[in-house]
Amino acid sequence: MPRTSPPPAGEPSAGPASRQPTPGLYVVATPIGHLGDLSPRAREVLAAADLVVCEDTRVTGRLLKTLGLKKRLRSYHEHNAARVRPAILAELARGAVVALVSDAGTPTIADPGYRLVREAHERGINVRPVPGPAALIAALSVAGLPTDRFFFQGFLPPRSARRRAVLAELARIPATLVFYEAPHRLEASLKDLEEVLGGAREAALLRELTKLHEECRRGTLAELRAAVEAAGPPRGELVVVVGPPTEDPPPATDEELEQALRQALAQGSLRDAVTAVARRLGLPRRQVYRHALALLDEDQRA
Ligand code: SAM
Repeated sequence: MPRTSPPPAGEPSAGPASRQPTPGLYVVATPIGHLGDLSPRAREVLAAADLVVCEDTRVTGRLLKTLGLKKRLRSYHEHNAARVRPAILAELARGAVVALVSDAGTPTIADPGYRLVREAHERGINVRPVPGPAALIAALSVAGLPTDRFFFQGFLPPRSARRRAVLAELARIPATLVFYEAPHRLEASLKDLEEVLGGAREAALLRELTKLHEECRRGTLAELRAAVEAAGPPRGELVVVVGPPTEDPPPATDEELEQALRQALAQGSLRDAVTAVARRLGLPRRQVYRHALALLDEDQRA
């Protein structure tokens, strides 16, 4: 039976046997900037792979070239995943060593791959991590904000109304929050972060981690928003880290309440929607119920 979990503590997992990977799906982290961050084991697995499943074959092709490797590549991304997954799983079932990589960092973290991993498990295929760089962990490690509890949001929705609704859900979580963000959206996102979470929350902006122009800027959300507004959109890749709440965030606006209710009402009963929204936004149930009835009434009249 294929092994789907790591060896028990104390059992050696390194040494000569690990040089020839057993058949299975290897989820291989690759550098987020600095090539020196590719682990020796990642290199070994890539060298032994019968197939490398990646996002962009040009990006992974360049990485393999720098490693002196020539491999069969198969692109796997959100637009073709459902179509190509069966062929990858069939190859795994025949006993291939398959490496899953993304353009940078750890596959499946704000990147494609989790369904492939899940379906491989469901078929009893050996699935192994080859851990390494991930922008969220690199960012947390240098942000100087509490790391005992953190919540990874990944990318926020691009539109402000939806983004604010998501932020309203996160505002009361007693943990550090981690966001990935695109440079052209940073200013708008920081504005919503400041307004929904409160400008006093400590935060850090990490840019181009492990690369030439690496930068860590720290301050309150209000200070970071003002700095970005003054300097214009930064270049490169970004992670925003926000420290846990130290005081109650500003109460949800009527607009946020309405957006949250509409979303919840589309998914379930009035009762469930009211309970979920009241809990999420920290509002009294009675207030949310009244607002929900007014919304439903308004919709009926329209
Ligand atoms: N799977 C990757 C990981 O493990 O971090 C993340 C992939 S996601 C599509 C790409 C986002 O990660 C970027 O938009 C940026 O927010 C963040 N990111 C990746 N590399 C980075 C770097 N060197 N510095 C800062 N952020 C980075």
